[in-house]
Amino acid sequence: MNQNQTIMNEKNESLAIELSSLDRRHLLHPSTNPKLQAETGPKLIFTGAEGIYLHDMSGQKYIDGVSMLWNVNLGHGNKELAKAAYDQMVNVAYASSFYGYANEPTVRLAEKIASLTPGDLNTVFFTSGGSESNDTAFKLSRFYWQLQGYTEKRTIISLKRGYHGVTVSAQRATGIEVYREFSGSTDPDIVNAKAHLTECELGDRSHPEYEGCIRSIIEKLGKDKIAAVIVEPIQGAGGVHIPPEGYLQAVRKLCDEFNIHLIADEVICGFGRTGKMFGVDHWDVVPDFMSIAKGITSGYIQLGGVVMREKIRDAFTSYDGMLAHGFTYSGHPAACAVGLKNIEILERDGLIEKARKLGEQLEKGLLYLEDKYEFVSGSRVKGLLAGFDLMKDSDKNIPFEESVKASVSVVDEAYQRGLLIRPFDFEPGMNIVAIAPPFITADNELERIINIVDDSLAAFSRKFM
Ligand code: PLP
Repeated sequence: MNQNQTIMNEKNESLAIELSSLDRRHLLHPSTNPKLQAETGPKLIFTGAEGIYLHDMSGQKYIDGVSMLWNVNLGHGNKELAKAAYDQMVNVAYASSFYGYANEPTVRLAEKIASLTPGDLNTVFFTSGGSESNDTAFKLSRFYWQLQGYTEKRTIISLKRGYHGVTVSAQRATGIEVYREFSGSTDPDIVNAKAHLTECELGDRSHPEYEGCIRSIIEKLGKDKIAAVIVEPIQGAGGVHIPPEGYLQAVRKLCDEFNIHLIADEVICGFGRTGKMFGVDHWDVVPDFMSIAKGITSGYIQLGGVVMREKIRDAFTSYDGMLAHGFTYSGHPAACAVGLKNIEILERDGLIEKARKLGEQLEKGLLYLEDKYEFVSGSRVKGLLAGFDLMKDSDKNIPFEESVKASVSVVDEAYQRGLLIRPFDFEPGMNIVAIAPPFITADNELERIINIVDDSLAAFSRKFM
C-alpha cells in the first residue's frame, strides 16, 4: 500500500467513526432494531454504487442481490435517469398538480402508464410511494361506492402474508403480524383473511382453511359492506409466494360476483420485475385499481400511483365537488421525468425480456441448490423475483429450531462473501431467503450470485447440519 492509499484509508476510517456516531445519536432507522442500532451503529455505510454493486466506506464491494428493496431494477449509477432528473429540475423542479395545475412529464407519464397497463386501466392518481398508493386505492374505492349510493361498502379484505406498507390503512391491510400490530394503530374497516394464497378460492370449500378465505369473509360480512379485495399478484415481503394457477382469475371472478373492487398491489411486481410488465399479466387479470411504486423509477426518486379503470374514473369525473385527496408530491415533475426515462430504457433495452430469461437461469440455479442441500426446498421464481425455504427436514415439514435463525444465518454467510440478499422469518418455523437482482445483471454475475448462495449454504450446513 502506498502512502496516498494509507492516508485515504485513515481518512475513511475517521469519517466512518464520525458517521457511525452521528447515526447512532440522530437517526432512527426504518425496519431496524433500534436498540441494536444505537449500540452498534450502521452495518454498512454506502459511499458508491455502480451496476449491480454497492461499495461501503472500507472499500468493500457488495452485489446488490435484492435490488435494495426490490426497486433498483435498472441497477445503480444510471446516468440517463440522473440526467432526466437534472434536466427536469433545472426546467420545472417542482410544480403542484393541485387545483388543476399540470406539467408535461406528469401528463406524459400518466398517458404512458395507461398504454402499458392491461384492459381499461387508463387513469392515474400519483403518490410518492407504495403505502400512499394503497391508502389511496382504499379511499378511492370507498368513495366510488359512496357515489353509487353504497354508504356501507367500506371494508377492505387483504390476505395473510400480504405486505402493503406502513401508513395506517396499508399497515392494517398487511398480513404480517409484526407490521400489522405495530403501535396498536387501527382501521376498523380492514379485515385480514386468515388464508394465504391457498387453493380454497378455486372452489374447494372443504379445504381446512376455507373459513379464513375471502369468499367466506364476504358471505359472513355481506357484500354490501365490502369495498375491495387487495392482493399482490406475487407476494414479496411475505416471503415470495406465487399463487397457484387460476387463483387470481378466481379472485377476479369472486369480486365480479359480489360487486367488489379488486386492487392489485403491483408495487414490487410492476414494471418488469416478474418478466412481464405487470404481475397480473401472467394471468390475464384486469384489476379495478392497480397500485404502483418502486420499479416505476427504479428507486431513483420517490414516486407511486394508483391506476384505475374507466368506469371508476367516469364516476369521479361526474362528481361535481372537490376530490379531497392528494399529496404535495402527487405528480412531482422530476419524479415523473425519471419514470418516463425509466420506462423508455426498459423498452429500448429489452430489459423485461432479459429479466424473464435471467429468471430461467436463476430457477435452474435454485433447483440445483435444492438437489444439493436437503434443507433447501420450495424454490420459486418468476422473472427476477425469487425465494426458497430452509427446513430442517423438508420431506417431513420439520422447521429449524428458532435458535438456529436459519435464514438470517444463510443471509449473513452471503453478506460475508459480498452478496446482499434478504431473510424472512416473521412466523414461527418460517425461514425464507429472497433473491431479486437488478435487470441489468449479466449472465456471469447471476452465476456468481448463485455460487455465493451455494457457498453460504455449504457454510451453514457445516455449522448446523
Ligand atoms: N406494497 C408492496 C407489495 C410492497 O412491497 C411495499 C414495500 O415494500 C409497499 C406496498 C409499500 O411501499 P412503500 O414502502 O413505498 O410505502
